[in-house]
Amino acid sequence: MNHERGVQTRHLGPEPVEYILGFGPDHSRSSRHPEYGAVIGHELTHGFDDQGSKYDKDGRLAPWWSKQATKQFESRVACVVDQYGAYEPLPGLRVDGKLTAGENIADIGGVKEAYFAYKTWESENGAAAPVAEGFTNDQIFFIAWAQNWCFLSTEDFLGRQVETDPHSPGMFRSMGPLADLPQFAEAFECAEGTPMAPKDRCEVW
Ligand SMILES: [Zn+2]
Repeated sequence: MNHERGVQTRHLGPEPVEYILGFGPDHSRSSRHPEYGAVIGHELTHGFDDQGSKYDKDGRLAPWWSKQATKQFESRVACVVDQYGAYEPLPGLRVDGKLTAGENIADIGGVKEAYFAYKTWESENGAAAPVAEGFTNDQIFFIAWAQNWCFLSTEDFLGRQVETDPHSPGMFRSMGPLADLPQFAEAFECAEGTPMAPKDRCEVW
């Protein structure tokens, strides 16, 4: 294991895997925002997901939106349900778009909120020196977000997770919100119409 300039290298298999560490006084904002900022954004967005949106300002289960707003919201949620429902963690095994809708809405909103918070910080303070050579700060932001969800699991675990867990499997928590954020495609120059730069993106918040 090697620590240098905020990059940790772990030898987990034949190739070393580099992790951009998110926390530490000398670590870049571009890696802290997607790890800690996105978690805070995720939790805030839950207040306005498919369940949280049904509660009023006093926490009572009392729908308070106009009919028009509710209709618009429902069509945006349906977009997220379809997006994640098309993801296949294993051949023939699809994510349950409805079961995971609230968590996916919170992920999509959370990473976007963290990204714009980071860009605001950058515009006020100037860009920090990137912590990993060869990557821009925007690229580091997105890599650090993806690394939140780096894990190994058995096929049995994935099968159980898809059936019972309202969270999508990590690989889709990583890529789903980034496919919906045009700044990701810009940062990595993804051609339009490819999986990470779809023509139609989902946007709830
Ligand atoms: Zn959540």
